[in-house]
Amino acid sequence: MAHSKDPEPTTTEPNLPRPAPLRLRVSARAESIVRSGHPWLFGESIRSQNREGQTGDLAVVYDRADRFLALGLFDSESPIRVRILHTGKPQVVDSAFWKQKLDQALQVRSGLFDDQTTGYRWVHGESDGWPGLVLDRYDTTLVLKLYSAAWVPWLEVLTDIIVGRLRPERVVLRLSRNIQNLTQLRFGKGDGQILFGPALDESVLFSETGLRFEADVVRGQKTGFFLDQRENRRKIETLACGQAVLNAFSFSGGFSLYAARGGAVSVTDLDISAHALAAAERNFSFNESDPIIHACRRQRVQADAFEWLASNPRRLFNLVVLDPPSMAKRESERDGAIAAYFKLARLGIGHLTRGGILLACSCSAHVSEPEFFEVVRSAAAKSQRSFREIARTSQPPDHPALFQETKYLKAIYLQFDSASDR
Ligand code: SAH
Repeated sequence: MAHSKDPEPTTTEPNLPRPAPLRLRVSARAESIVRSGHPWLFGESIRSQNREGQTGDLAVVYDRADRFLALGLFDSESPIRVRILHTGKPQVVDSAFWKQKLDQALQVRSGLFDDQTTGYRWVHGESDGWPGLVLDRYDTTLVLKLYSAAWVPWLEVLTDIIVGRLRPERVVLRLSRNIQNLTQLRFGKGDGQILFGPALDESVLFSETGLRFEADVVRGQKTGFFLDQRENRRKIETLACGQAVLNAFSFSGGFSLYAARGGAVSVTDLDISAHALAAAERNFSFNESDPIIHACRRQRVQADAFEWLASNPRRLFNLVVLDPPSMAKRESERDGAIAAYFKLARLGIGHLTRGGILLACSCSAHVSEPEFFEVVRSAAAKSQRSFREIARTSQPPDHPALFQETKYLKAIYLQFDSASDR
């Protein structure tokens, strides 16, 4: 069937932007990639298009037999030229389409969280069918973060749908750094802008497994908090009883609070940022009515973690958490990242007591799981100490990763010189 006979996939409602879709034909290889469900179409795979596209246009992709293949959002500024929203039968992009898409993502989270956890991810980009878009909940505030300017012309309709479905007090817009200038210039939208609800002068409060935290949703890293580390933090809680804990790259003290609740005798926060350490201090204060947390001794160190670990060899801990920022933002930085992970793991292991446990994490998408696990294990082998692996973890269920490119978080737990090694 030729595409002329297909119902035209288009927008039907007056409040939706850009009524005339862009028509694209793509290479055979791209066609099979899109057909297999991959959400990205790169610029070089487009063979022809009916007109010059503008960022945010709805793009309809046809196959070699001129049949409807997929539709997505066109981004003239990004090498990922189209982010696919739908494949299969022709589809009208109207409010019902967006509502159904949102409901699918919400459905994935049903049953994951009780009212003790009010901070989590509702929509996780590509793997939820929303490529380049993230929606996080922090109690009654929602944060919509965009990684492509193609979403910006759709903000109004999306905000209406999100507000109608989730009834938040407010929705905050966050923009990844690479699209901030363009989005401001072309669409007049800025990072941290309030899309719905009252203005915000301070951080918002939320709960994670009953612990209280603040998140600086307007200015903070990511959307204000590292929601993706929840499951590793819970695990640290179960390993911390009676232990002295070092939380390197501590940010706002997430791992430290879990360790304290798990009965750690002491926690040391180590971060280069005074701002992060001050947030950790506040987060502790929100939870100090818990006598176990109150009893935990605390220390703050503002320093470069590599330097501090190298220059304080006598400071030993039973549990060392290493959760550095991404070391490889692009493929060319991969080798450097691997070398840095090796160095960091070696330094961390050097601070462990007998029987001590290392948690080493990586959030670099350009370093694969096997590569990372191998580098940490080789650092352990180099230490000449016996060790056993306790666990390997990856992304939590509210941060699904269906495609290789969306896998970024991995962690490995190793215990050193434990009785079972001998
Ligand atoms: N583990 C945290 C998230 C860590 S984010 C959590 O669960 O919430 C990474 C942190 O590393 C940031 O707070 C940043 O300030 C800090 N950081 C970046 N480079 C650093 C360095 N060289 N030494 C110490 N801290 C660093």
